[in-house]
Amino acid sequence: MAQLFDGRATAAAVLQEVTERANTLLSRLGRAPCLAVVQVGVDAASAWYVRQIERTGHRVGIAVALHSLAGDCAADAPARLVAQLCANPTVDGIIVQQPLPPQAPLQSVLAALDPRKDADGLHPYNAGLLAQGRTMGFAPATPLGGIELLQRSGLPIASQHAVIVGRSAVVGRPLALLLLAQHATVTICHTRTQNLAAITRQADILAVAAGRPGLITASMVRPGAIVLDFGVNDVDGQMTGDVAPDVADVAGWLTPVPGGTGPMTNAMLMRNLVLAAERQLG
Ligand code: NAP
Repeated sequence: MAQLFDGRATAAAVLQEVTERANTLLSRLGRAPCLAVVQVGVDAASAWYVRQIERTGHRVGIAVALHSLAGDCAADAPARLVAQLCANPTVDGIIVQQPLPPQAPLQSVLAALDPRKDADGLHPYNAGLLAQGRTMGFAPATPLGGIELLQRSGLPIASQHAVIVGRSAVVGRPLALLLLAQHATVTICHTRTQNLAAITRQADILAVAAGRPGLITASMVRPGAIVLDFGVNDVDGQMTGDVAPDVADVAGWLTPVPGGTGPMTNAMLMRNLVLAAERQLG
């Protein structure tokens, strides 16, 4: 049976360190470090995530300021809001919630974002640094959380064959680059990949971020492999990952859903925020 990663305990350990840094920032800044959350329109999953951010911020001494716009706002309204927040010295970091409405595509909103305040690592400048193997920028919170889980569990990354299913800008692609920066050998799979199972079976570390419940079954996993399941799917009201339950019989390590990669995302967002505040202070 696979050993389960404890995402909640690992997130708590990260948040303990974030709390200490937020306290130091409180005395240096004369205010709590502040994360601005930009939300456009109404989306249940996004609203749930915003509540988690608010709750976590409250717990660790980070002020979370929610800025909501209507879904039918002017096309340039989200970008103007982001630009205002960037110019505000009491805002240390910004996260733009997805989905965005069609008139305001993500790239147009991110273009208004100061890379120094890019708490979720999605600005092309930060994505470019990561692509060049320069790790001084901000990386997206979800893949950072996966790396942190591996490292804090004492599992090797260097020289391991990491196979990633999914190539989104938020999870799969930055995860591949973060693993590469840690000297893994990386293979990325997607919907055009042929014979997915033959590739996933080669993985020492198998990371799945496809948004397809049960995509990865036991026969697709090498015995003893480390499996990171990033999937968050609603199946009959039940939160499930992309990995089928029988994978637990084969894998060496496995992230449960819920309680695996999910709690880590929030913790890494908070860590990015204190890092942004510290860097702006110099
Ligand atoms: P996304 O933008 O929809 O990307 C999904 C990726 O998976 C795409 O690259 C797609 O390939 C690939 N894919 C889909 N079906 C596949 C299949 N049958 N075989 C091989 N590849 C397949 O999704 P995302 O934003 O990366 O999110 C992925 C999952 O992670 C979702 O369940 C999401 O809810 C979850 N998520 C979790 C967290 C967390 O904190 N744990 C955070 C963010 C997202 P193509 O590029 O070819 O289309």
